[in-house]
Amino acid sequence: MPAYDFRCKKCDKNFTVQVSIKDKAKVACPECCSGDIQQKFNRVNLGGISGGSAGSSCSSGSCGSCSGC
Ligand SMILES: [Zn+2]
Repeated sequence: MPAYDFRCKKCDKNFTVQVSIKDKAKVACPECCSGDIQQKFNRVNLGGISGGSAGSSCSSGSCGSCSGC
């Protein structure tokens, strides 16, 4: 059975529940029994460093950290 990470919107509790997909909607917060919960998805690395490609794409002109300046 898969496990899902949830966060309670009411009390901010993070918890993991092993539940089948069809019962996922019935999951409630173990702390305050609220059904107002949000499923957490694994954080995808969106590449926080912008302009990673060195070259003429540098917008600041002289950043000193890329080979394009
Ligand atoms: Zn809660």
